[in-house]
Amino acid sequence: MSETTAAAFLELVAGRRGHFRLESGHHGGLWLDLDPLFAEPRRVAPFVAALAAAIRPHAVSAVCGPLLGGAFLAQLVAHALDVEFWFTERVMPATPAAPGALYRARYRLPPAVASRVRAKRVAMVDDVMSAGSALRGTFAELRAHGAEPVVAGALLVLGTTGVSFFAEHRVALEAVSRDEYDLWLPAACPLCAAGAPLEDVAAPASEGADACDPPRSRKSPPP
Ligand SMILES: [Zn+2]
Repeated sequence: MSETTAAAFLELVAGRRGHFRLESGHHGGLWLDLDPLFAEPRRVAPFVAALAAAIRPHAVSAVCGPLLGGAFLAQLVAHALDVEFWFTERVMPATPAAPGALYRARYRLPPAVASRVRAKRVAMVDDVMSAGSALRGTFAELRAHGAEPVVAGALLVLGTTGVSFFAEHRVALEAVSRDEYDLWLPAACPLCAAGAPLEDVAAPASEGADACDPPRSRKSPPP
């Protein structure tokens, strides 16, 4: 099977309905557990190949992905393109979130990687992008170190929030598949209005503790 539709992608992950606080700070009604995505490399391979083919014309010299899933993907795409592979790690602020705060997560390049990115054209990839928290953080970190992030890519793009961000920053976007997605600011969330219990799916176990702890929980739909 080589179909690379959103429906085919969603068969590779575990989705569930509810009321979720996402890494970006938005609320959403769908959570995708992306941990099984790379469990069967053969099944995700057509999506990876499609993304690599879409990124190839951008002539990058590296592919960078946020840990965890984005980095697994970045490694595969970098291998396909025969370019460097980089990753960023999430750091959540130790201070409690103000109500309604968005995009609090920061993404850091490891020092040994940060020292080699200056002036390089780079693609940023993640398995799924919705609000784009992880890719926004990766974009900011790459720019801060003098890299030139020219394209963002994802196997599945949900909704338009992340799409708008990269359009505003004149960064190309390559999506293997796309689907609609309802994402709300907390103050405008209909599930909050209905009194549905909120599940925080992005808060790392380390939040409020040692900010240097590695990320523990998968985001999704990512940020
Ligand atoms: Zn809500």
